Amino acid sequence: MNAAQYQQRTSPDARTQAPQPPLIEITDVRKHYSQGTTTVRALDGVSLTIEAGEFVAIMGQSGSGKSTLMNIIGCLDRPSSGNYRVAGVDVADLSTDELAALRCRTFGFVFQRFNLLPEISAAENVEIPAAYAGRAKPDRAARAKQLLARLGLGERTDHRPTELSGGQQQRVSIARALMNEAPVILADEPTGALDTRSGEEVLALLKELHAEGRTVILITHNPEIAEHAERTIHIADGKIKLDDRRARVENVKPPVFKLDLTTRNRWLPDLVEATKMALKSMRVNLFRTALTLLGVVIGVAAVVAMLAIGDGSKQQVLERISSMGTNLLVVRPGAARVGGSGDIATLVEEDARAIAELPSVAAISPERATRATVRFGNVDYQTLLQGAWPGYAQARDWPMTYGSFISEDDVKGYAPVIVLGQTVARTLFPTLENPVGNYILVRNVPFEVVGVLAPRGATPWGTDQDDIAVMPLSTGYMRLFGKRYLQSITVLVGDSNEIKETEAAIEKLLTERHRGVIDFQIRNTSSILETALATQDTLTILLASVAAISLLVGGIGVMNIMLVSVTERTREIGVRMATGARMQNILLQFNTEALVVCGIGGLVGVLLGISVALIVQSFGVAILLSPLPAILAFSCAFLTGLLFGYLPARKAAQMDPVVALSYE
Ligand code: ADP
Ligand code: MG
Repeated sequence: MNAAQYQQRTSPDARTQAPQPPLIEITDVRKHYSQGTTTVRALDGVSLTIEAGEFVAIMGQSGSGKSTLMNIIGCLDRPSSGNYRVAGVDVADLSTDELAALRCRTFGFVFQRFNLLPEISAAENVEIPAAYAGRAKPDRAARAKQLLARLGLGERTDHRPTELSGGQQQRVSIARALMNEAPVILADEPTGALDTRSGEEVLALLKELHAEGRTVILITHNPEIAEHAERTIHIADGKIKLDDRRARVENVKPPVFKLDLTTRNRWLPDLVEATKMALKSMRVNLFRTALTLLGVVIGVAAVVAMLAIGDGSKQQVLERISSMGTNLLVVRPGAARVGGSGDIATLVEEDARAIAELPSVAAISPERATRATVRFGNVDYQTLLQGAWPGYAQARDWPMTYGSFISEDDVKGYAPVIVLGQTVARTLFPTLENPVGNYILVRNVPFEVVGVLAPRGATPWGTDQDDIAVMPLSTGYMRLFGKRYLQSITVLVGDSNEIKETEAAIEKLLTERHRGVIDFQIRNTSSILETALATQDTLTILLASVAAISLLVGGIGVMNIMLVSVTERTREIGVRMATGARMQNILLQFNTEALVVCGIGGLVGVLLGISVALIVQSFGVAILLSPLPAILAFSCAFLTGLLFGYLPARKAAQMDPVVALSYE
């Protein structure tokens, strides 16, 4: 700015100095509002020059365009056409930040309706322009106190505007206008809402400010008040009708005017300010904030907990299948492409005997099972009755708690003996620690309990492995199954390096035995593992998507609240912009608010999610807590805040101050 430094004495000897551009120079300014078919000419070709240090009163009837003119002078509004220069600088050439700087440090606005922020104290209201000018908190707090004391409000600094009388509020707003030592005071009917006495006080104050060398422009429709000014400009229908200069007020200090349009980017202090403001406004709307928070908390907690549970069950599947041993092969009847299960009459006990002959086979267990009811005394219980060979326990590496597993002799002799899983043992013998030696009824046939299997827990698919009773396969055929086909043959390979060869050998053997028809399938543990993990991944993705949707809903809640908040606080935004807030400040304030909500929500959500996962774990569900889901969910919440906070914030920041101020 070539005219950034500007100083002028408006005294007779100013003629001897080089001509300076006037403080305010308005040339043929028009402001038109089109309302449907009619055009309101609020200003209709106004030209006006005001020198630094003048005390000007603008008079006119209501609706004559006084406020419109004042708003244009104060850079709260832009003219439709015409030219406005401040100290020789065309304001049309200024950026939004430079305009904000002008409102911040050059013009001090005093409104008819005070325009104080209701949620904060008098002193904090006074401090606002200084915060936007970048003054440190202690410095500006001290100055605000000092200013309020000077205006006779020393006792009222901590009061809210609503706790003050009209006259007191107007003095607070004058203090605010003086906060950044604005050389130009613009007062739009400052006494309009006050009683006579308070009005006189305010007028005296304005005269005092003028005497200190400030330029004062005052709108009034009271001729008595206008009398105190050096010059009265009469406006009617958007045109100047009369410009009446009178004698200058005596004993006035030389006017000082300095145009300072520097705009610094001060991200960190601005951010700190914005965070404080955000926390404050969250406290003011505590209930609403809590509800918004809840949305984010639930979303994040859901993601964290769901992923912990999903990952936990995946981990469990992995462990259980691995613990089954990697050297297991399972032969099932039915060709792979037909689909496995069902009762297919191709796999028989003789196949198992043949496989057992292979040198690499360490144990073998042909199996068939059915559900049936077992009874002891008056307790009936339906369980899985498994017909097996002694190799069953060995292949599954399943130890005994009591007694022994069925033996070769039991199988050969069709012995009515049975080995109980833990669940069955505890259900049938609730009071008996060791039921070995007792007889239970299976389909009314007594079976001797010869052993109890060690507890195994649930399978990866959630079925209780201990809900089982094992009897010799031969006995099962005779008493229960009726058919002599196998459902599977479990093969334990002695050396895990020989799995591939054994699988091939079994395939060859069975193909020969089945006369060239491949009516069976052989699976090894790793292929089972793959399938199981794929299922688990699907499950985890499903859980995570549900959780992500709830996070999205939380984010939409944040955006909704931000939109409401921006709408509700449009006037506040207007006040902030009129006192020097830049677009960046407004953006930052509302973004920070959304971010603080989402940040706190995210943090609480992560903690809640972990707690939920731990509680679920205490009910016996496997969980796996890893940092990634927590970080992911938190970042998501944070990004939602950024995105959904930005849109309403931008809407707020792009408003013209005068539009925001007149918002009802
Ligand atoms: P004063 O302050 O002298 O009472 P204003 O400057 O506020 O008058 O308004 C001048 C004229 O412009 C009035 O007729 C008013 O209705 C009109 N006006 C002011 N602001 C708007 C607006 N935002 N939209 C339409 N008309 C407006
Ligand atoms: Mg007005």
